[in-house]
Amino acid sequence: MNILIKNCNLISMAENREKYEPNIDIYIKDKKITKIGKNINPENDTKIINAENKVCLPGFINTHAHLSMSIFRETLDGYTLQEWLTDKIWPMEDKLTREDIYYASLLSCIEMISTGTTCANDQYFMAEDTIKAANKFGIRLQVTRTVNDVGGLGEQRIQELEELIKQYNNLYENITLNIGIHGLYTTGLDTVKKLIDMAKKYNLPIHMHFCENTKETQDIKSAYNVESPVQVLQEYFTETHNILAHAVKLSDEEIDQLSKLDVSIAHCPVSNLRLGCGVAKIQKMLDKGINVTLGTDGQGSGSSLDMFDTMKFAGLLQKGIFENSKNMNSYEILKMATINGAKALRLDKKIGTIEEGKDADIIILDLETETCKPTGNIYSDIVYNAKGNNVLTTIINGKVVMENREIQGINKQEIYEKCSKIIERIQK
Ligand SMILES: [Zn+2]
Repeated sequence: MNILIKNCNLISMAENREKYEPNIDIYIKDKKITKIGKNINPENDTKIINAENKVCLPGFINTHAHLSMSIFRETLDGYTLQEWLTDKIWPMEDKLTREDIYYASLLSCIEMISTGTTCANDQYFMAEDTIKAANKFGIRLQVTRTVNDVGGLGEQRIQELEELIKQYNNLYENITLNIGIHGLYTTGLDTVKKLIDMAKKYNLPIHMHFCENTKETQDIKSAYNVESPVQVLQEYFTETHNILAHAVKLSDEEIDQLSKLDVSIAHCPVSNLRLGCGVAKIQKMLDKGINVTLGTDGQGSGSSLDMFDTMKFAGLLQKGIFENSKNMNSYEILKMATINGAKALRLDKKIGTIEEGKDADIIILDLETETCKPTGNIYSDIVYNAKGNNVLTTIINGKVVMENREIQGINKQEIYEKCSKIIERIQK
C-alpha cells in the first residue's frame, strides 16, 4: 500500500534541506520515499496520514545495543562493570534459551518502535532469534554474533559468526550483518586477526566495545603490551570500517590518532554514567571530524532504549564537562541520532534522512504537549523536551508499525509476562 503523509512539519536531516519546512507532504510508494512537496495528489489505494501540526523526522538509529538484554533491566546496582559481567550477567546468560532471546528481543523491539527507533546495531548471541523478533515488525537491524575468547571458545564463536553471515547476509532487506568483537580485553590477537580477515572477506563493518572504563583500558595495555589501546587499532584495524562503542577513556592525542582511521563512535552516555565509567570527550572527537553516533547499550546498563534520553544526556554532558554551553548544538545531536548512525552502519544511501529515493523510515512526533510548548527552537525541543511517548507514529521500510501509539499485531502484556518469567528463572 502507498502512504501519503499530509501537511507535516518536515525535518529531513538531508544536507541540502537543513531548514525546517512547514506544511509538507511525503509520498511513500513501494517502501520508498518517492515525492516530497506541497499538495501531492495520491494514487488509488493510498493510506492518508494527517500530520497537521506534527513533525516528521527520520527514524532514530541506535548504533550500540544488545536487544536481548531487556530482561536484565535494573540488575546493576551495587556492581562495577567487570563485577556485573562476570558475577551476574555471564552466569545468567549461560542459561538463556533461543526462546528467551526471542521474547527478550521482542520486548526491545516494542520499546524501540514506541520511542521512535527504526534501526539498531545489535551485538549478542543466538542472533537468529533476535532477527526473528525484528522481522515480526520489520525493524531494521544490523546484527552480529559477538566473539570473544572467554572460556577458550573463540574458535567456536568465530565459526558461529561465519555461519550467521552465510545464512543471513543479503537474505532480508531489513537485516544487515557486521563483525562483532566483544572487546580487546576479552579477545586475543589471534582471534582478532581472524575477525579482521572475515570483515575484509565479506566487506562488513566491525562492531566492538572499546575503552569503556579505566580497568578495560589497563587490561588492553597489558594483554597487547602497548602504551595505548589505539596502537592496536593503528596496527591492525587500518583496512576495516570500525564502529567503536563507548571510547570513554581516550586522551586528546589518542582522539587525534583515531580521527585518522575509518572509525565511527557509538556514544552511549546513559550507560557510561550508570556504570560509573566517565564521560567520553565527544566534543573533541567532533572537532577532529570523527563520525559520532548515539547508542543506548543494553537495558542492563543503559536502562532504556529511548534515544530521547540519550540525545539529552549527550548534549548536557559535553556542555557540562567543557563548561561551554555552545558545545553540541541540537541539530548536531539530531544528526548523531539519524544520518551519522546510518553512515556508521554504511546504510546512509538507504536511510538516515527523509529524501526522495530513500527507504521510508520515518517517525511522526506530536510536540503539542505540556513538556514541549511553546516551541522556541524545534530542534532543541526534540532533544531536550520531547520523550519517547511524543512519538505518535513509526514507519519502517514503508510499513506503519505504530499508529497513534498503537502497535499492531502484538499482545504486549503477554511479552512482559514471558520476560518476567525468564529473569525469575535464570536468576536462581
Ligand atoms: Zn555494550
